[in-house]
Amino acid sequence: MQNNCIFCRIIAGEIPSATVYEDKDFKAIMDISPAARGHVIMLSKRHCENLLELDDGTAEKALLVARKLARALKAELNCDGINLLQNNGEAAGQTVFHFHLHLIPRYQGDRISLGWTPGAYGDGEAQALAAALAARL
Ligand code: AMP
Ligand code: ZN
Repeated sequence: MQNNCIFCRIIAGEIPSATVYEDKDFKAIMDISPAARGHVIMLSKRHCENLLELDDGTAEKALLVARKLARALKAELNCDGINLLQNNGEAAGQTVFHFHLHLIPRYQGDRISLGWTPGAYGDGEAQALAAALAARL
């Protein structure tokens, strides 16, 4: 627990939240400033800054819990789609530096924008980068 971390304080019950789900590894709550009605954030109980710092056990379980939450959102809201969004680092839009995953209900024609302008690779560039990355794995 980090005293200056708002999500640690939520997990400790010091700051109120609308809780959707809780187990020994995760707590899922309603986002206080939702992108859409039903926007949920899933917090790791253990403090770690982001995905890169996450321990194996929590990382392995994260998608199972996310799937459970996604199914509940779909059943309750009958949304057309759901985005999973997980920001790592300020440059990626992370504002709370405690691992969390967003689940955002989506509807055909809604005005939520998570998009980008598609880029392109030069000749051989994607292959070279893939090889460089593969060498690090
Ligand atoms: P990120 O930009 O990925 O770090 O997302 C942080 C999210 O936490 C934002 O969507 C905030 O609206 C949300 N948030 C911040 N404080 C609270 C809080 N006290 N309760 C619920 N959600 C929060
Ligand atoms: Zn924390």
